Amino acid sequence: MAGENFPRTAHILALIGGILVVIEGLLYLAVGALIGSIGGGFGIAGGFVAALGAIALIVGIIILYGSIQLRSRPASAKTWGIILIVLALASYIGGGGFFLGLILTLIGGILAYVWVAPAAPMGTAGQWSQPQPGTWGQPTMPGGGPGAAPLAGGGQRFCTSCGSPVPAGAMNCPKCGAPVTA
Ligand SMILES: [Zn+2]
Repeated sequence: MAGENFPRTAHILALIGGILVVIEGLLYLAVGALIGSIGGGFGIAGGFVAALGAIALIVGIIILYGSIQLRSRPASAKTWGIILIVLALASYIGGGGFFLGLILTLIGGILAYVWVAPAAPMGTAGQWSQPQPGTWGQPTMPGGGPGAAPLAGGGQRFCTSCGSPVPAGAMNCPKCGAPVTA
């Protein structure tokens, strides 16, 4: 929508994406703890899954922070756009928020990066549409070439043969000598 003073779509996508990444990070932590609780050789595997979950949790929290920044500090949209793209890819190691979180955060990051701030506050936007006093409305030079109307431009006569201006009252063109007919 026009006139938005912050990248709304990017903010919403990153918000949902961040939540999904956090949820799957927590899921990894829970599953990792469950696997580790089996004991024996499963302790290392459980720790590994839990570590991935912890990373996803941190990544997801930073995504959420970035989403909030897009709203509160729109001027940082380009910077956070790049960070969100990197975080979206990084979230892959923790499941990427069921992959949907990765995609939403990635799109949000791209949208934030390409977002262009409105040039002026909405209150003064009406000034843009006022017509400028232009020069294009001025009448173009009438005639000008050979065969131009003898009387053009407010009494000034032109030679019908060569187009030169002819002084008032002259019977012949001062340039080519052709008789002035009108
Ligand atoms: Zn002439």
